[in-house]
Amino acid sequence: MANPRVAIIGAGAAGLSCAHELERLGCQPVIYEISRSDVVDYIHRVVVKIN
Ligand SMILES: Cc1cc2nc3c(=O)[nH]c(=O)nc-3n(C[C@H](O)[C@H](O)[C@H](O)COP(=O)(O)OP(=O)(O)OC[C@H]3O[C@@H](n4cnc5c(N)ncnc54)[C@H](O)[C@@H]3O)c2cc1C
Repeated sequence: MANPRVAIIGAGAAGLSCAHELERLGCQPVIYEISRSDVVDYIHRVVVKIN
């Protein structure tokens, strides 16, 4: 399957680095994050779907 979409639960260090690697390998990662954080709010606005 070309460019498979992959759901990642959580925008912590593990989720973000996983998304980076998957994108590098040609996947389309979608990060789902349950909570808001001042520290990662910018990242959330740019790449994370809040659920
Ligand atoms: C008080 C404290 C201080 C620390 N200080 C340092 C430090 O100075 N330097 C350092 O290197 N490390 C530090 N750490 C450790 C560091 O925070 C962790 O090692 C790192 O955050 C782990 O990353 P993670 O992605 O595995 O988990 P997390 O960072 O916990 O990320 C998991 C994410 O998943 C989300 N999530 C959970 N359930 C769901 C769900 N059902 N749906 C959607 N999203 C969900 C959570 O909201 C969270 O954002 C500290 C930890 C603590 C508790």
